[in-house]
Amino acid sequence: MEIMSEPARKIEPKTIRERLEANERVTLSPYAQLSERTKGRKVPEPQCDLRPVFQHDRDKIIHSKAFRRLAGKTQVFLAPAGDHYRTRMTHTLEVAQFARSVTSFLGLNEMLTEAIVMGHDLGHTPFGHAGEKVLAHLMPNGFHHVKQSIRVVEQLERDGVGLNLTEEVRDGILKHSKGKGQIFSDNPNLTAMTLEGQIVRIADIAAYVNHDFDDARRAGLVKDAEMPDVVVKELGQTHGERLDTLVRALVEESRFDEKRMIRMADGPLQALYALRDFLYEKVYETKSVRAEFDKAQRILEELYKHFLTHGDEFRATHWPAGTRPEEGLERAVADFLCGMTDRFAIRTYEQLRVPRPFAVV
Ligand code: MG
Repeated sequence: MEIMSEPARKIEPKTIRERLEANERVTLSPYAQLSERTKGRKVPEPQCDLRPVFQHDRDKIIHSKAFRRLAGKTQVFLAPAGDHYRTRMTHTLEVAQFARSVTSFLGLNEMLTEAIVMGHDLGHTPFGHAGEKVLAHLMPNGFHHVKQSIRVVEQLERDGVGLNLTEEVRDGILKHSKGKGQIFSDNPNLTAMTLEGQIVRIADIAAYVNHDFDDARRAGLVKDAEMPDVVVKELGQTHGERLDTLVRALVEESRFDEKRMIRMADGPLQALYALRDFLYEKVYETKSVRAEFDKAQRILEELYKHFLTHGDEFRATHWPAGTRPEEGLERAVADFLCGMTDRFAIRTYEQLRVPRPFAVV
């Protein structure tokens, strides 16, 4: 007797989200982080019927107040008067553009990449790294923008509820920063758990060294002719050529078979380091840029000390809704300060320190 085996039943997607998740299974690389395989959120919440999880996370971040404030925060040049200088917001968008290009060329999950990028700099202080430095000096346990970005998404946003993002997005935000350190690392503490997160780490530096050079040129601090030879030779003559080379260098060198690692050929990688070193020397640490940073640091330092010595007033008027009372006044002041835009910090300082003309009624 012939035994009829039951034909494999095809599960029809019921919702738009399920259809999009099914598309990911068919169209993305086997090494992509699929939305349906997420490790999930700290607090389980019902899935959206339209959006896969990482798309949902991207939307949560874009609708956050911390995200909108990126428009008013320094990238390199303080509260720039020129309309064409980058802010943290335009930096974030340029990182997204670079990272999404690489992600799509490698067949990985663009929505995850975009969510990580949108959140990666949410914890930056006003006045860029100058602000970060002064808080690191003042806070008893130090301060780092990456930890603050995580604090923003986990706790400070939505008046203390947090955004409840997926583990993959939080991990990508946490592992994006390298400062003056190595871009690629075998240290698992520095390497994102997803390839999408690894892409963001390199997209961040690829974007900023290129756009900071462009802004420094606009400010008259450097000239095109000063670009280090190795950068021109390896990456190209123009801003566009250099970004194109970097995207290709990542797409061509990343190998997923033996090791799941995003990689870049050595020539372009060394050029990237050379451009970063050049910017530290000629831009980030030069006198004219530092002079403004010193003023900015004084503003933050004075505000910090003022609020600490006027604790009752601070508790009544400025205590951030997301800072828990048991975390203490210093933590609350730091949360308040690093949420500020450049202009808000300057205005608050003026209100406290600069006498206002007597109003005539
Ligand atoms: Mg960044």
